[in-house]
Amino acid sequence: MLQLVGVSKHFGELRAVDDVSLDITAGSVTCIVGPSGSGKSTLLRTVNMMEEIDGGAIFFEGEMIGHEVRNGHRVPVSKAVARRQTLNFGMVFQHFNLFPNYTALENVTVPPVLTGRADKAAARATGLRVLEQVGLIGRKDHYPNQLSGGQQQRVAIARALAMEPKVLLFDEPTSALDPELVSEVLGVMRALAERGATMIIVTHEMRFAEDVADEVVMMDAGRIIERGAPSEILHNPTTERAKKFFASVG
Ligand code: ATP
Ligand code: MG
Repeated sequence: MLQLVGVSKHFGELRAVDDVSLDITAGSVTCIVGPSGSGKSTLLRTVNMMEEIDGGAIFFEGEMIGHEVRNGHRVPVSKAVARRQTLNFGMVFQHFNLFPNYTALENVTVPPVLTGRADKAAARATGLRVLEQVGLIGRKDHYPNQLSGGQQQRVAIARALAMEPKVLLFDEPTSALDPELVSEVLGVMRALAERGATMIIVTHEMRFAEDVADEVVMMDAGRIIERGAPSEILHNPTTERAKKFFASVG
């Protein structure tokens, strides 16, 4: 469904993402782990076309995304094509980034209307459905500052779902939460996985990764240094770097 082939992203001399290849099948859950600065967020951002890549290519359902090759040169795709391509991806961030002046329901209904994805009535119907899905229908008229961190993050997940993306990208969705609020967010993500959502999740929650991921990918210094089934990677890492990392995150 989604293929990254030798993707690189440099910031000056720094190779934030260095020759990364990934093959994501429909309905799979991929967890990306690794130390701070290893390129996890940058990698997600290249998929979502928030970062232009310098090398390699990304294909979604067979179509190259983010750039095209014209007369042997790589050029960014047009704005219209980029907009269409980004609609395939929904992103959930560490800091929920909700609109503070909108209620929970407005937070999930406004983006589909603004992007022309749905009219108001359809957006409302979808909005109610996705808020129900994350267990927040009873809070639909609350503003973000009237919600706990876990509830805000669940609204952010609902907002991503309301756009009906084909792939969900999560960048440390529980890292900003108080420990007792982590499990409600992971529970929603687990339920999405069980319903067959395709997800790429940057996380430090190793127990969750072990339970839910089909593949765990460990990055270090922009590269993938270990990959495989969670039971193998988490319990029998082959590199010293990975052994140390997993020991440190428990
Ligand atoms: P963390 O776990 O702390 O979130 P990460 O694995 O997500 O780390 P990235 O945010 O992808 O790491 O950053 C990878 C490297 O690229 C870091 O060295 C970072 O400083 C650098 N970097 C990221 N974005 C930029 C940017 N816009 N300009 C310059 N350097 C950047
Ligand atoms: Mg990051």
